[in-house]
Amino acid sequence: MSLVIGVTGGIGSGKTAVTDYFATLGIAIVDADQAARVVVEPGQPALEKIAHRYKGILQEEDGSLNRRKLRDIIFASDSERVWLEQLLHPLIREQIMTELKASVSPYSILVSPLMIETDQHLLADRVLVVDVPVELQIARTISRDNMTEEQTRSILARQATREERREKADDIVDNSQSLEQLYPQLDKLHQHYLKLAKQR
Ligand code: ATP
Repeated sequence: MSLVIGVTGGIGSGKTAVTDYFATLGIAIVDADQAARVVVEPGQPALEKIAHRYKGILQEEDGSLNRRKLRDIIFASDSERVWLEQLLHPLIREQIMTELKASVSPYSILVSPLMIETDQHLLADRVLVVDVPVELQIARTISRDNMTEEQTRSILARQATREERREKADDIVDNSQSLEQLYPQLDKLHQHYLKLAKQR
């Protein structure tokens, strides 16, 4: 398997802006959120287990998971959240590993909003944190998602803090300025990662 760079950052920090740019440089992007959706697609064993535990959790039209309902259940109950995490986390990890192993780019990127919270940084050789001040994170999220400040802050409260992420970082990219100021930092990191990948 090639070198794996874990990219993380809080909500609205610019993970997508960063990984979109690395993709233009030909780097394979594996998305933990997407892996989390794959493991509960219709036909997957995990979906059957969830449907067995929570009656009425599947959408009638197509048998897919009613995510909103599931989210409400785990918000309301810590023990249900733990049950679900114990079921899904190993499967998500397996799905991520499968995708990383299939990657043929010089190095690969694993992007995850909850990398540190879910120990997914252990799947990466290095961690790159997309860093912005909290107030900017909130402002960009509000204008992107049409969310209220209160909603945004409640999501933020469930994520690692800026300091916790920075502590786990091998590299930090500052996304507090324009994209024009972001990209040269990524070009530099790209060269560094190419070098590291060659040394392996
Ligand atoms: P989430 O975890 O919520 O999916 P994210 O970390 O992927 O967020 P992005 O979607 O990349 O964050 O960025 C959040 C918003 O801020 C987007 O609307 C994006 O276009 C904008 N944005 C990102 N970087 C910059 C920047 N340097 N300057 C201005 N706007 C930016």
